[in-house]
Amino acid sequence: MAWIDLHTHQIRLESNVRAILHLNPFAQAEGSQTFSVGLHPWYLKESNLKKELDWLESVIHHPSVLAVGECGLDKRCQVSWDLQMLAFESQWVMAQSVKKPLIIHCVKAQQEILQLLRGYKGTFVFHGFNRTLSMAEAIIDHGGCISVNAYFLTLPQGHEVAMKVNRQHLFLETDDRQESIQQAYLCLAEIWQESLEVVEAQMEQNAKRWGFNF
Ligand SMILES: [Zn+2]
Repeated sequence: MAWIDLHTHQIRLESNVRAILHLNPFAQAEGSQTFSVGLHPWYLKESNLKKELDWLESVIHHPSVLAVGECGLDKRCQVSWDLQMLAFESQWVMAQSVKKPLIIHCVKAQQEILQLLRGYKGTFVFHGFNRTLSMAEAIIDHGGCISVNAYFLTLPQGHEVAMKVNRQHLFLETDDRQESIQQAYLCLAEIWQESLEVVEAQMEQNAKRWGFNF
């Protein structure tokens, strides 16, 4: 069984890891076998939006593209809210139509995103989740999943979230952090008081269940 890293920005040459590497528009697909493609809210520019969405449309069907994103809404960044909304909506509509999971970047916009995705037909994962148990449960109640990193799992809040949320809605990732995916698996095994094999089997099952077709 391989370790699944649901979302990363880092090319790491580790055997036994299956990672979904985020690709920005027009980036070369290398360093991984599986990717997510999307327009990150931080880098949106009105003048680029159309050609970036066209690019997305042109690569989205590729079998190495497992997911759309990260995309989403960020209240702390300078990019205009209208532009963020427009880009996000275009992307979730595309993800839904090609039936690939959506990887969401969310900063202080959870309510808005859950509202927008009410009735969404498809998988959506709030990546880099680092909030409270009740916020995690709200996402899961709406049919979504969360993905967490090793650092969050070392915090009391992360411990509580990992301990109490529905295991079928949980993923692990490295994102842009230095800790390895193995560390995240080890932390989770410790929190659950389970063997690594149990964690691996759960993550494998979750990937299948939610349509990450490695
Ligand atoms: Zn990221």
